[in-house]
Amino acid sequence: MRKPLVAGNWKMHGSRTFVREFADALRQAPPAPEVDVLLLPPVCYVQELAVSVAGLDIGIGAQNAHWQESGAFTGEVAPAMVRDLGATWTLAGHSERRAGCGETDELVADKCSAAFAAGLRPIVCVGETLAEREAGSAEAVVLRQLDAVAARLAAGELAQLTVAYEPVWAIGTGRTATPAQAQAMHGLVRGRLAESLGAQAETVRILYGGSVTPENAAALFAERDIDGALVGGASLAADRLLKIVAAAAEASRVRREN
Ligand code: PEP
Repeated sequence: MRKPLVAGNWKMHGSRTFVREFADALRQAPPAPEVDVLLLPPVCYVQELAVSVAGLDIGIGAQNAHWQESGAFTGEVAPAMVRDLGATWTLAGHSERRAGCGETDELVADKCSAAFAAGLRPIVCVGETLAEREAGSAEAVVLRQLDAVAARLAAGELAQLTVAYEPVWAIGTGRTATPAQAQAMHGLVRGRLAESLGAQAETVRILYGGSVTPENAAALFAERDIDGALVGGASLAADRLLKIVAAAAEASRVRREN
């Protein structure tokens, strides 16, 4: 049984005060223990968050980490550095970085590999643009992005990877993929992982991301291969994030009973 994971991507939002207030809200209403909860603040707030949520079962991640251990990369941050600040997770290949920072499939694969080497758990983001979906190439794009990472990782690492399917047209747009659209892609991803991992592919968590809200989360989490969510906008309010966590906990209970 895969434990659901709900990850909040704060993107370039927040402040030290915001971090402390968010942590206070979580302390007053701790998330359901059936769900792994992970927060991804801007990297400058990772340490503040680590201190603020001490004693709570909240994972901490970076939104990005470089593929090199150190060197002449002005403005960049190495995986071991974010680990040093208290992060144990990192995103790799968010579509905003693929599109805005020129991150290629190969570079994203390098970042996943470097994250594992530094003791971080990467969540690789994959997903097609609207033009790619309309051209009928959504599946090919997602598999290409996934294959690049799978080719770069050792089997033991691949089994520890978390995948986030995030259709680009659904991110920050309020236009969520339907549960059926998301499940179709998640099933495809799991099938591809099974080609390398066999039955172990059943243990890999595949998150959905793209305008997830407390209102649509339950329907998404009811699908077989949707193991949680990568949440942007709705993760900036603790009460909304906690409602999404509660929906994941409920879906997990239903799965266990069936
Ligand atoms: C994201 O930032 O990865 C994301 C899915 O954002 P939103 O939930 O706002 O669409």
